[in-house]
Amino acid sequence: MDNVQLIDDNGKRNDGRGPEDLRPIKIEAGVLNNADGSAYIEWGKNKIIVGVYGPREMHQKHLQKPDRAIVQVNYSMASFSVDERKRPGQGRRELEISKILSEALERSIISNKYPRTSIDVFIEVLEANAGTRCAGLTAASVAMADAGIPMTGLIASCASGKVDGQVVLDLDKLEDNTGDADLPVGYIPLTDEVVLLQMDGHLTPQEFDKAFGLAKNACVEIHQLQRDALTKKYSQDPDEDNGEDQAGEEVVSE
Ligand code: UDP
Repeated sequence: MDNVQLIDDNGKRNDGRGPEDLRPIKIEAGVLNNADGSAYIEWGKNKIIVGVYGPREMHQKHLQKPDRAIVQVNYSMASFSVDERKRPGQGRRELEISKILSEALERSIISNKYPRTSIDVFIEVLEANAGTRCAGLTAASVAMADAGIPMTGLIASCASGKVDGQVVLDLDKLEDNTGDADLPVGYIPLTDEVVLLQMDGHLTPQEFDKAFGLAKNACVEIHQLQRDALTKKYSQDPDEDNGEDQAGEEVVSE
């Protein structure tokens, strides 16, 4: 696999994108009736649904925080979501992703409004083609806004990386598996805060700066799609009792 050519002589990637192009992204807010907030995202060949419950009283008292809410993410991949059937249940990878996404989402909420509570976020990956932590985080942030949770800003997330020695945006599975580096970024454009940054592989400082800049710019674009999804839901649904917290951050901070 090492000698697969990932960028052709015309600078096109295996799916026809240029180095700085995102895969197509579609976001829908409020897709589940029984969750407090929800969102569905299609990002290239990734399909992910997110349900949010809470804030609700934290039952495990030893985990309660007396002064704030905590976010508990459960990231899970369906057995049928990948080429080679995935064993059901949470492995190390799912645990790691759940932890980093909990920490990122916690940074975006105004948590002192809800002491001793938990906000539970279920990220269900139905089809995976690389970038699921970023797509899941992007959808989870929309679902939290849909649940009316006050936030400082929506988190948009996207990875960049390096393939065939070139810095590119938004790696697909072939690029993720055979490329040189992957750099997932979670960013709140409204507050200019980076809430997720991981790196797998090797980048020089110059390549890192370029890749980080590409991912942050993409997050600004994705943030607009998140806002559009929330605006669409709440302009279509005027009778729903969304209260003043509808569409989360946008109400609070804009
Ligand atoms: N993947 C897989 N089987 C697994 C885990 C991952 O086929 O058990 C694939 C899946 O398409 C995933 C990709 O590998 O999206 C990249 O996984 P990674 O751990 O880098 O996370 P992601 O890029 O999805 O955030």
